[in-house]
Amino acid sequence: MVTGAHTPLTVDLSGLRVAITGGAGGIGSAMADSFYACGAKVFISDIDTAALAASPHPHIRADAGVVADCEALVDAAVAQLGGLDVLVNNAGIAGPTARVEDVTPDALDATLRIDVASMFHCSRRAIPHLRASGGGAIINLSSAAGRFGFPLRAPYSAAKWGVIGFTKSLSIELGPDGIRVNAILPGPVDGLRIRAVIKAKAAAAHISENEMTERTVATTSLRCFVTQQDIANMALYLASPFGATISGQAISVDADMQTTM
Ligand code: NAD
Repeated sequence: MVTGAHTPLTVDLSGLRVAITGGAGGIGSAMADSFYACGAKVFISDIDTAALAASPHPHIRADAGVVADCEALVDAAVAQLGGLDVLVNNAGIAGPTARVEDVTPDALDATLRIDVASMFHCSRRAIPHLRASGGGAIINLSSAAGRFGFPLRAPYSAAKWGVIGFTKSLSIELGPDGIRVNAILPGPVDGLRIRAVIKAKAAAAHISENEMTERTVATTSLRCFVTQQDIANMALYLASPFGATISGQAISVDADMQTTM
């Protein structure tokens, strides 16, 4: 039985200045801890004030769905870190679980705003600082839902496909400045978020959570969930000198997912 990583990649990122959205929980928190463990200087944003207060990393409360908050978070990161080398656009929501005809305009709007438009706004504000650093990296969190169609999750899937188009376009624009832009596509990452999604999908399909869990794992050829650390390790690699010639890529870390859930 394959299991994912539980320790950070060993790579020296001393002094690298890294901002991570949605960094107080889930994958973002694993990334923040991992960058810090590798010697980077880390700044995070989130909307969960309790989780922010419990985080060891400098932070700001900023809603990725609000343009002014996206700008404030980049400004605060630059002020705290003394510049910026890496922006990780991680914050995202699952969006509604419903057939397209039942999705409300508000739910659609929130999903597109938080899951894709936020990446545009944060990047737009960060680019001059990355350029001033002489190069850098932007890492966007997409999803296997940005590679397959996801029935009952159309707003999320549309947003995550959008992240890929944004990533590939921006990488071409910024390549001449030595700024690399990549997307990571996590598959089913074990944690609270996937459990909530499985619960909602099980209810919608009128089956048990156990059955939906088995169906989820069976979508991967490796027959397993991915760990948050697996995703964090890919971010470390992409931000490190080992990723120096990787840009414009949509990289799956998904236990070889073969089909939609
Ligand atoms: P999560 O829900 O566990 O945590 C995300 C963090 O973002 C939380 O701390 C939350 O408070 C914060 N957040 C939520 N809305 C926010 C907002 N509007 N502004 C700022 N912060 C906000 O999610 P996760 O599983 O860690 O996912 C992180 C990223 O990875 C997301 O973009 C998600 O779509 C993507 N992803 C996750 C999975 C998975 O299985 N977990 C799979 C594919 C892709």
